[in-house]
Amino acid sequence: MDNNKFVEVKKLRKVYDNGHEAIKNVSFSVKKGDLVCLLGPSGCGKTTILNMIAGLLNPSSGEILFGGKSVVEVAPKDRQIGYVFQNYALYPHMTVLQNVMFPLIVGKNKKAKADAQKIAEKYMSLTQITELAEQKPGNLSGGQQQRVAIARALVQEPQILLMDEPLSNLDARLRLKIREEIRALVKTVGITTLFVTHDQEEALSIGDKIILFNDGVIQQDDLGENFYLDPNNYFVANFVGNPVIDNFKVKKTDQELQASQFTIKLADLDQARFKRAIPNGDYILSVRPENIVPDPEGVLRATIDDIELIGRERILKFTSDQNQARSLVSLESPIKHGDEINFQMRLNRIFLFTPEGERVY
Ligand code: ATP
Repeated sequence: MDNNKFVEVKKLRKVYDNGHEAIKNVSFSVKKGDLVCLLGPSGCGKTTILNMIAGLLNPSSGEILFGGKSVVEVAPKDRQIGYVFQNYALYPHMTVLQNVMFPLIVGKNKKAKADAQKIAEKYMSLTQITELAEQKPGNLSGGQQQRVAIARALVQEPQILLMDEPLSNLDARLRLKIREEIRALVKTVGITTLFVTHDQEEALSIGDKIILFNDGVIQQDDLGENFYLDPNNYFVANFVGNPVIDNFKVKKTDQELQASQFTIKLADLDQARFKRAIPNGDYILSVRPENIVPDPEGVLRATIDDIELIGRERILKFTSDQNQARSLVSLESPIKHGDEINFQMRLNRIFLFTPEGERVY
């Protein structure tokens, strides 16, 4: 068995009964023991993929393999999957212990109660809910319910853990804490995990790798840092990053890239970064706010319309072509609202896209 392809999805498609093609020819693989984030905006098809992997939905075509074996014909209960749903789906009339034990005392492989309790207690200890054993879910906080749902998904010692937006019902601070805990837990247990989220920061923080979807198609399947440093296309560059990337309309001539507020000489660009020879015409130049730096010698002159404080840093905001652009500076920066200043762009950190979104530099 190829551990690099512990879960493999090949040319997967899903057309719903109403004719909507939610997943279009998607292929990816997941390494054994990895935590992989399926990331994308609402409606891009993340849950549809998870449900096909779990066996809750049938693919219209394509293959799903676990450990090299097709599972498309395997019933959900026989796929050895743990599923943590967005709303946790706990049984309200059962205690925490009963909820966690439940998968072990039903079905054809059910265990003796004492054995089931022992396994449940192991996972309740790992998820730090031992003290809550006799509580009912209605008396628990969102974070506690989340832990119960995870413990319940793990008791059958599944080979794959699927989590669909597991943190979306938690407040921001708790989300940060629980996402660290989830990563530590799945690494301790060593379980291969697919984690669905629409939150790019969450994906970057916990994923061994990230698969970014839009409109039923994979946009990039890569290590987190490559979404920053080497985005495949305009959608990726704009979906990942906070504050969001700055985009400027530019016209390419034989010698230059001309924007309304600045000009860049083509000779100053790294020629090796061009993906192909490009004709003159309209392009979008994109650069992350941390790579637009106040500099008296800089090529871009603008007036600061607004300043936002985000912890250790400030975002300087200015208008370019009626769009807002941003520069990320340190908290100590003396620049004030209304100042007219110059910015330099780190030219080895800019990207160029065609109007259709194809990356050409
Ligand atoms: P969210 O983050 O909002 O849950 P998602 O990325 O998980 O979104 P899916 O739930 O997989 O997206 O849905 C993908 C697309 O398929 C959406 O356009 C959705 O409207 C559509 N869809 C989902 N379920 C069905 C269904 N049963 N019948 C028809 N279309 C559906």
